[in-house]
Amino acid sequence: MEKKRVYSFGDGKAEGRADMKNLLGGKGANLAEMNLIGVPVPPGFTITTEVCGEYYSIGGERVRELLDTEVRAAIKGVEALMKNNFGDVSNPLLLSVRSGARASMPGMMDTILNLGLNDEVVAGLARKTGNERFAWDSYRRFVQMYGDVVLGMKPVEKTEIDPFEKIIEEVKEEAGVKLDNELSVENLKDLVARFKKAVFEQTGKNFPVDPYEQLWGAIMAVFNSWMNERAILYRKMEGIPAEWGTAVTVQAMVFGNMGDTSATGVCFSRDAATGENLFNGEYLINAQGEDVVAGIRTPQQITKVGSVRWAERGAISEADRASKYPSMEECMPEIYAELDAIQRRLEGHYLDMQDMEFTVQEGKLWILQTRNGKRTGSAMVKIACDLLKESKITEEQALLRIETNKLDELLHPIFDKKALKSAKLLTKGLPASPGAATGQIVFFADDAAAWKAEGKKVIIVRQETSPEDLQGMEASEGILTTRGGMTSHAAVVARGMGKCCITGAGEMIVDYKERTLTVGGTVLHEGECISINGSTGEVFLGEVATVAAEMDEDFKMILALADKYAQLKVRTNADTPRDAAKAREFGAVGIGLCRTEHMFFEADKIKAMREMILSNTVEDRVKALDKILPYQRKDFYEIFKTMQGLPVTVRLLDPPLHEFVPHDDKNQREMAETMGIELSVLQERIKKLEEHNPMLGHRGCRLGNTYPEITRMQTKAILGACCQLVKEGIECHPEIMVPLVGILYEFKEQERVIRETAEEVFAEENIRVDFKVGTMIEVPRAALTADRIASSAEFFSFGTNDLTQMTFGYSRDDISSFLPEYLEKKILKVDPYQVLDQKGVGQLISMATERGRAVRPDLKVGICGEHGGEPSSVKFCHRIGLNYVSCSPFRVPLARVAAAQAAVEEKK
Ligand code: PEP
Ligand code: MG
Repeated sequence: MEKKRVYSFGDGKAEGRADMKNLLGGKGANLAEMNLIGVPVPPGFTITTEVCGEYYSIGGERVRELLDTEVRAAIKGVEALMKNNFGDVSNPLLLSVRSGARASMPGMMDTILNLGLNDEVVAGLARKTGNERFAWDSYRRFVQMYGDVVLGMKPVEKTEIDPFEKIIEEVKEEAGVKLDNELSVENLKDLVARFKKAVFEQTGKNFPVDPYEQLWGAIMAVFNSWMNERAILYRKMEGIPAEWGTAVTVQAMVFGNMGDTSATGVCFSRDAATGENLFNGEYLINAQGEDVVAGIRTPQQITKVGSVRWAERGAISEADRASKYPSMEECMPEIYAELDAIQRRLEGHYLDMQDMEFTVQEGKLWILQTRNGKRTGSAMVKIACDLLKESKITEEQALLRIETNKLDELLHPIFDKKALKSAKLLTKGLPASPGAATGQIVFFADDAAAWKAEGKKVIIVRQETSPEDLQGMEASEGILTTRGGMTSHAAVVARGMGKCCITGAGEMIVDYKERTLTVGGTVLHEGECISINGSTGEVFLGEVATVAAEMDEDFKMILALADKYAQLKVRTNADTPRDAAKAREFGAVGIGLCRTEHMFFEADKIKAMREMILSNTVEDRVKALDKILPYQRKDFYEIFKTMQGLPVTVRLLDPPLHEFVPHDDKNQREMAETMGIELSVLQERIKKLEEHNPMLGHRGCRLGNTYPEITRMQTKAILGACCQLVKEGIECHPEIMVPLVGILYEFKEQERVIRETAEEVFAEENIRVDFKVGTMIEVPRAALTADRIASSAEFFSFGTNDLTQMTFGYSRDDISSFLPEYLEKKILKVDPYQVLDQKGVGQLISMATERGRAVRPDLKVGICGEHGGEPSSVKFCHRIGLNYVSCSPFRVPLARVAAAQAAVEEKK
C-alpha cells in the first residue's frame, strides 16, 4: 500500500490522535485529539513529519507529486464540511498553513493565513460576507504574509522596518489615520496593489493568483522554514534533533476580523510566569491571530480578575479599564463561559497546563491549537506541586514533570531589597518572566550576541521581538519591550528560556536609528546600564545589587519527593566551608571531592607551598611542609565541622607543581630572598619543573609517590582535625582519596604512607578515628584493572574529567580549538566534558564498578567529575548502580531530582 502522508480531521472525527506527535507534530496530533473529544476545531489535515524528511532528500517538486492526490482529496473533505470551495469566486474556502514539530518551537517556523485569495476571490468573499472591508483586510494580510514567508520579502537594512510595514505607514499617513483598523476599503485596495508592486520590484516575480499554486508554495515554505536560522538555533538550545522535521497543518480559516462579534486570542489554563492556578490570557476584538502575539496592538485581558490586575499594574483607573479595556468575561460573557469550560476540559484531558489559541467568528468560538504551555522554572515547580495536591497527577508524574535544567532559574539571584530602596525607578511594564537582570542596553540582536562574546552583560531593548531576535535574546541577561502583552513573542520565548523579561513598557520610546531609549525626561543610549525586575515589571536606572534566592515551599516539596524516590545519593564538590554550607542547604549528603590544592593559594600558604616545591632536599621540604600543616589542619577542621558527621572525601594534592611557582620577576626575586638563594638558582629550579604535557606529567599520586612527605603532611592535617573534632563531640567520617592512580602499587604505596601516618597521629592525639582510604579512577588503566585496585582501595570515585581526557585523548585545556567544528560537523553530538560519553567512558565506569565490586562487594562508588551535575549523566550513574554523584553546590538540587527521575523511569 502507498505510504499515508496526509491525515484529515474535522467534525468530531480524525485520522490522528494525541499520541501521534512524532508523525503529526504536536499541533497536528492535538488538533486531531481535540476533534475526538468534541472541542470545536476548524476542519483540516496534517502532512506528516516524514514528508519533511522527503522534502530535504528528494526536493519540493517530487514531494508535490507524491502529495498531490492525497492533498486534493483532503481539501475536498474540508470543502464538504465547510460547504464552500477552494478557489471558488462566489463561495470561497480560505486556508491557513502552519508548521508543527514534535516539540513546540513557538514562532520559529512559518505560518500563512487567508490563503486562496486573489483579485476575483476577494470580490466573491466581499459579496458573500457583505463585508468588503473584512475581505480586503484579509487579502492585504495574505499578500503581506505570503510575500514575507514564501517570496522572501525582508528589510534590506536592520534599522529599516519591514518593507510591507513601511508601505502601511505611508498609506496611513496619506490617509491621515493612526491605526490599521481605521484604513478605508479604498486604502486597503491601495495597500494590496502597492504590496504586489513591491513584491515584483524586489523579487522579480508576480504574486501567484492560482490558489493551488499558492498552497504548494506555502506548504514548501513551511518545510523550508525547518532549516531557517532561528529554527536551527532554537533546536540547538533545546536539544531538538534536526531529523525530526516539521509537519504541516492546513486548516479551514475562521476569521476573528469579521467585526465586533469576532475576536482572536491566546490563553493559558494557569499562569505561565508564576504557575498560579488562574485561567488567563489576552484577546483582541476584530483582529487576526498574529496581531495578539506580534505586540502591535496592546491586547485586552480575557478574565476580569486579570484585567483588574493589569490595570492596577499600569495605574489605570477602574472606570478607564472598564470602558476602554474590558475583559472578554465582561464583553462576551457567553463566549467566555464556553472558553472557560473548554480550557478546564483540555487541562483535565492533558493533565497539564495548556496554552491555547482561539478565534471567535461572528459569535462562534473555535479552538485553533492547544499544547502543554511553556513556563518558567518556578511555574514548572508550582504547577507540578499543585496538580499533585489537586490529586490530578501522582508523585512520580510530578517528579517527571520537572525539567531539571530549569531548576537553575530558581537558584538565580534576586535584587537586594535594600539596594532597591535607593534605586531610581524609570518605568513599569508587564512582569512577563520573573527574575532580576542588570546589563548594558543594546537594541539589536546581532549586537547583543557580539557584546556578549566580548564578555559584556546586556539587556536587549526592543519595541517588540520577533523570531529573528532569538540569538540576541539568548545572549542577553534580560529582555525589555515597549509593546506587547503577556503572550507576546518576547514573553513566551523568554519564559521558555528562563530569562527575565518585561513587555509592554509603553511609556518608553525606543528609537532604533538614534539607538536611544527615552522615558519621561531621561534619555539612555546604547551601552548604558539598566536593571529589570521581571517579577514586578520594574525598570531601574543603573546597576542594582543582587542577593541569592531563597528556596520556596514548592521547591522544597519537590526536593523532598525526589529524596523519597531516589536511590542514588548526591554529594558535593566543595573546597571551602562556605561551599560546604551552601551545598548542605541544597541537600548534599556529604562531600564527594574536596580538592586540597585550592587551599594553598592564600597569601601566607602560597609562600610556604612555593618554598616546599622549590626546596632541593627532603629536609628543606619537610620544614616548609611543617609551616603549611597548621593551615591545612584548620581548613579541614572547618570543613568537617560544617559537614557535622556526613562523609567527606578529601583528595590528596593533584595538580602539577609548576602551577604553584611564581612566574613574574617580582615574585621570583621575593621568593629567592625568602629562601636565601640566588635568583638564577631559583629560576633554574623553576625551569626544571616545566613539562611538555603537564596534564600527563608529574601530578596526581605521582607527586605523593615521589614526595611522600606531602602525603604525610596532608594525612596529619586531615586526621588531626578529625581527632580534635571528635574530642569536641562532633562526628567525622574522613575518606582519604588518592588521585590519578593507574597501577595497584601506586595506590598501595600511598596507602602505606597514609596508614603509618594515621597511627602516629592517633598515638599523639590519644584517640582513634575511623577512616577509609580509596582512589580516584581517572586513568583507563585503573578502570581496566579495577579488580586489582579494589583489593586495596576501600572506595572508588570516578574523576570523569580526566577519564574523559584520557579515553578520548582530547586535552581538557585545548579541546576548544576543534570542538566547535566537531559539533558543527556532527562528528560529536555534544561536548563530552559536559555530557558523559556513555558508550565509551561510561563503559569503562560500569566495567570498573563491576570488577571492583566482584572482589569487594561493599565497595562504595561515586563520580566527582563535572558530569556529576548533568542530568543525563546522573541518570546513567543510577542505571549502573553507583552509590552517589558529587557535583558543585548549585547543581545539587538538580542532581537530586535527576536521580529520582532515573529511579521512577526505571520502575516504569
Ligand atoms: C576529574 O578528573 O574528574 C576530577 C574530578 O579531578 P580534577 O578535575 O580536579 O582533575
Ligand atoms: Mg582529575
